[in-house]
Amino acid sequence: MERPGAADMSSVIAVLNAGSSSFKFSLFAVEGEQLAVVARGQAEGLYTSPRFVAKDAGGAVLEEKAWGEGAKLGHEGALEHLVGFLRNRLAGHRLAGVGHRVVHGGLEYAAPTLLDAGVVAALERYVPLAPLHQPHNLTPIRVLLERQPQLSQVACFDTAFHRGQPAVAQAFALPKSITDRGVLRYGFHGLSYEYVAGVLPRHDEGAARGRAVVAHLGNGSSMCALAGGRSAASTMGFTAADGLPMGTRCGNLDPGVVLYLIDELGMDTRAVEKLIYQQSGLLGVSGLSSDMRTLLASTLPGAKAAVDLYVYRIGRELGSLAAAIGGLDALVFTAGIGENSAEVRERVCRDAAWLGIELDPAANERGGPCITTPGSRTRAWVIPTNEELMIARHTRRVLAGRPSEVPA
Ligand code: AMP
Repeated sequence: MERPGAADMSSVIAVLNAGSSSFKFSLFAVEGEQLAVVARGQAEGLYTSPRFVAKDAGGAVLEEKAWGEGAKLGHEGALEHLVGFLRNRLAGHRLAGVGHRVVHGGLEYAAPTLLDAGVVAALERYVPLAPLHQPHNLTPIRVLLERQPQLSQVACFDTAFHRGQPAVAQAFALPKSITDRGVLRYGFHGLSYEYVAGVLPRHDEGAARGRAVVAHLGNGSSMCALAGGRSAASTMGFTAADGLPMGTRCGNLDPGVVLYLIDELGMDTRAVEKLIYQQSGLLGVSGLSSDMRTLLASTLPGAKAAVDLYVYRIGRELGSLAAAIGGLDALVFTAGIGENSAEVRERVCRDAAWLGIELDPAANERGGPCITTPGSRTRAWVIPTNEELMIARHTRRVLAGRPSEVPA
């Protein structure tokens, strides 16, 4: 695997999205201006019961391996296995580089960036701002820098798409001495929003030029207001714990609650962190599960309360985001819940009738793409996201030395 000057016809770009005990990967063949998926897969249970699976674009298994209960493969071992898999599979192709999803780029990194040890050290400063994601995003980068130093690596940031928001949308009402230290609303899921903004013109040119709100509803959930295809406001703020309730994160919370937890309930900061990131949201409210499918299938009152709160909070944020962009031409649903749950979409759309959304129930059951009636003043869409493709595109552009399209 040599270090390329630029991606060419026979090159392949690998995309990595790493979590605490797993990573997902995709391989894209560079075919002229196009990027075509040739394989995707994941390595999971890296510290408990490791398992690797790779499939081709049609879903046929290319390789499957399990190390057994108790084996501790770790990120290092799993990446080594992936590199071996790539070597076998890439005969005749060249690995042009690896693109990584990195959740936080802070103030400094507003565009995809070629990685070296100095950049990784700078990105480590943002670990406290995204403790659930940032350390795990950086682990494979560090391992590959060490083991495969000749390989080009590019970081693509979930914050980057939002860095062009108006200053007022990024500001907290805190003293300047604090905000000057980078305490701002950054926003996340930017790679997903950038992808959706890129394909929206094919579906709804008016909304793409005008005012749209995209609801990325997955295990992590957020919403973003787009004005003319650019991020104008988002529900996530300084960290990815803000905004909507999520699988295990609480979403927006009166800061006084945190003081109460510490002063009156005697919790320390680590316990508060655990509460906010891992024990709240759908899981905390339901007392049952962080998984929307499980909650929708349950008759327990806690499950109903969690789904009710989730839908209610989406409605409240939708109103707020529409206000930020002066109205609404289209609402777009994406990610696991947004793409697959007709029930959640129906409830959100019904609550948003005041914004001119008139749901077409049959189209919604079919999964769209358009789920509103022909006469609906405001359209609603289901558009599957593709963060991996966005990362591959950015990676190719950076490797080719081309300027990024992300607003600075
Ligand atoms: P993501 O993080 O985008 O992969 O989304 C994961 C979430 O999507 C989980 O809460 C899943 O329960 C939810 N999800 C996936 N498929 C469905 C479905 N058919 N109905 C409801 N929720 C779903």
